[in-house]
Amino acid sequence: MTDKYDVIVIGAGPAGYHAAIRCAQLGLSTACIDKSLDGGGKPVLGGTCLNWGCIPSKALLDASHKFAEAQHGLAALGIRTGEVSIDLDVMMARKGEVVKGLTGGIAQLFQGNGVKALAGSGKLLAGRQVEFTPHDGAVQILQAGHVILAPGSVPVEIPPAPLTDDIIVDSKGALEFAAVPKRLGVIGAGVIGLELGSVWGRLGAEVVVLEALEEFLPMADERIARDALKILQGQGLDIRLGARVTGSEIRGKGAKRTVTVTYQDKSGEQHVEVDRLIVAVGRRPYTEGLLAPDCGVNLDERGFLYVNDLCATDAPHVYAVGDVVRGPMLAHKAMEEGVMVAERIAGKKPLVNYDTVPSVIYTHPEIAWVGRTEQQLKASGEPFNVGTFPFSVNGRALAAHDTQGLVKVLADAATDRILGVHILGAQASELIAQAVIAMEFDASAEDLGLTMFAHPTLSEALHEAALGVAGHAIHMVNRKKRK
Ligand code: FAD
Ligand code: NAD
Repeated sequence: MTDKYDVIVIGAGPAGYHAAIRCAQLGLSTACIDKSLDGGGKPVLGGTCLNWGCIPSKALLDASHKFAEAQHGLAALGIRTGEVSIDLDVMMARKGEVVKGLTGGIAQLFQGNGVKALAGSGKLLAGRQVEFTPHDGAVQILQAGHVILAPGSVPVEIPPAPLTDDIIVDSKGALEFAAVPKRLGVIGAGVIGLELGSVWGRLGAEVVVLEALEEFLPMADERIARDALKILQGQGLDIRLGARVTGSEIRGKGAKRTVTVTYQDKSGEQHVEVDRLIVAVGRRPYTEGLLAPDCGVNLDERGFLYVNDLCATDAPHVYAVGDVVRGPMLAHKAMEEGVMVAERIAGKKPLVNYDTVPSVIYTHPEIAWVGRTEQQLKASGEPFNVGTFPFSVNGRALAAHDTQGLVKVLADAATDRILGVHILGAQASELIAQAVIAMEFDASAEDLGLTMFAHPTLSEALHEAALGVAGHAIHMVNRKKRK
């Protein structure tokens, strides 16, 4: 007999597990198929984000930041620490415990909500049938009323730097180094390169980041990117822009192996020798083995599953969400798409607002933004006003001895509607939520200016930047004409 479900979800990363839980909450019989295995070969839920992405990287970012603070940041506060050292085994084990706790939590949520977890591979066939190949056992054909595809993404590999053992690694390997490399190379000054470069740099590696583009973080606001570059370089990251990697060669044997990386810059061919190399040049949609030729789902020209604004594929009642579809490869975007599709299947009418997807880079200081950048607004010719406020004069930042960075608010010149908010600073990842809420409700800069913020908080910098749009931030001498 063919097992039947109202909804079958393929993939239990943030996109898939959110979709599955919401479907079950809405009374739909739901199964979620995932093929991931943990280091011990046991099925594990949570996808890239929980196992090899957001969560383990933040566990190491937070631990390494505390180490860096203990080494360099506490003396100014009158705290003497003596010699501080790391126990990498303990740090890694704690990271593993955090991951285990959260992935186990999803298993419990599935159980509690009545989602059937199926460990193995899923393949979409025609007519909303799904071929399920368990890790152990015979292939089964399942019938679904609706199918949600959420297979995620995998790292891009490049021919000049093929992954090799634990020497040339992708982001997953870089979360599992057994020792701190003395010299670490990173290809790509994108989000992963900066986050993992920061982790290992703080733990003691000499880090060289090779970035093909001349521009640093082109997706961020120019001013924020410029200031962030200076700060990160000041922390010791040797970020080389305009450096396109063209080759790599592993030399030596055993523990003495090193990698010579070849790259092209303005002056011609260059070489740098490192002990470990991280390849962080982007991710690609993962669709291997997912689709039968006659299933009716199409790919776009870049290999993503083709969907409309509501995440519907070309096959009726088949949806796709998360990294495998267009848009930023971010866990929160994946989650919102999963929930939207579940609710649409249940007859509700939610939308995902792609104009208010926040981006965060978890360096220190953090870099966070939502909406459009100043350079995008200039290019579009839309008139706008700008308010900025530096953390160097924010009371809470001074009290905490964490004053780097600024907040920048961009608002429409005619309507004062907030068009973008950009933050470089401690806890920017938390502060940006206030801007997202404001933009979600179409707030004006004046609305934020008229809102009361607790004192003393870092959030007051956002308040002041919003006031600054009209030229009347209180803690800054404004040269703009007052209104
Ligand atoms: P995934 O999380 O990739 O999950 C897909 C799941 O589907 C996987 O378990 C896979 O095994 C399974 N699967 C695939 N095909 C099949 C099949 N045919 N059958 C069965 N199962 C299948 N994003 C953020 O927003 N914030 C961060 O801080 C952040 N940090 C990151 C750090 C790193 C190092 C990396 C690599 C990524 C990070 N990301 C972050 C990105 C984030 O992890 C992804 O955007 C997110 O995981 C996408 O979710 P998803 O559900 O679409 O896919
Ligand atoms: P990315 O696209 O952010 O950066 C890749 C960089 O590599 C680019 O700047 C590119 O110019 C450079 N590059 C490509 N080929 C090169 C070469 N041959 N030589 C030198 N440089 C080269 O990709 P990523 O850092 O791998 O991250 C992948 C995805 O994961 C991102 O899209 C991001 O959305 C997601 N992610 C998010 C977070 C977060 O939200 N904090 C953290 C990690 C990853």
